[in-house]
Amino acid sequence: MKIVILRRLTQLTILSLFVLGNFYGVKILLGDFSASTLFGVHLADPFAVIQLLLAGFSLGANAIFGAFIVAIFYALIAPRAFCGWVCPVNFLSELAFNLRAKFGSTNQKRVLNLSKNARYYLLAFSLIFSAIFGFAAFESVSQVGLLVRSIVFLQGSFFGIVLCILVFEIFIFSRGICSHICPLGAFYAIISKFSLIRISHNFQNCTKCNKCKVVCPENQVLDMIAKRNDFVRNSECISCGRCIDVCDDDALNFNIIRRKQ
Ligand code: SF4
Ligand code: SF4
Repeated sequence: MKIVILRRLTQLTILSLFVLGNFYGVKILLGDFSASTLFGVHLADPFAVIQLLLAGFSLGANAIFGAFIVAIFYALIAPRAFCGWVCPVNFLSELAFNLRAKFGSTNQKRVLNLSKNARYYLLAFSLIFSAIFGFAAFESVSQVGLLVRSIVFLQGSFFGIVLCILVFEIFIFSRGICSHICPLGAFYAIISKFSLIRISHNFQNCTKCNKCKVVCPENQVLDMIAKRNDFVRNSECISCGRCIDVCDDDALNFNIIRRKQ
């Protein structure tokens, strides 16, 4: 089965469980991405919790422990698994990319020109602003929070938010949000440096077609393609498996990483 189908099912299931929990009394998953309960266990967005703590809010043990559980889970599983498998903004970013490809352009659309490191600067700014001004800076304007709340609380703002993201990604900055701007994605890239499941490249099977590099939203991580057997060691990979889906030569797969080749 194509990995993209598994990812879509995962995204859809999580968002549906939130809607069922928040509106229809199905008490499996309640709340939203910032703070939730899964079978009664408290979970919280670790990046939001860090901002709130820096801003001087006093948080309960449930929030801190919930953030710790989420951070450990994403740190261990696969790099930026939240981005590739959970966050609905990434779904829209991929939709925009696919629409552009369908209408003939996979070139990066750049009205803005930002380095991929911009997200790390924004992450640092978010933390510094939170500490100085006493509010959770990124959490207050987060495209992820706005979109997720509009979905799981069935708000009318959903259509406007989706339209803004699609217009930005199609006409202003292709793959701008997830690959350049989002500090939450940067946060997950940092904490998943030692995550276990990685893309592995089989050099012997590779026919150097480079299809993987075309579809990869973070193709700087595919430096080993057509050069050597290796794992994707850069944790900016979002573990989306798009490279595996397009590879006809069985040269790419998910595997447990070996730290030394
Ligand atoms: S980079 Fe940000 S918006 Fe994109 S998928 Fe990750 S968390 Fe969501
Ligand atoms: S290397 Fe593969 S799994 Fe990682 S971001 Fe690129 S396409 Fe997705």
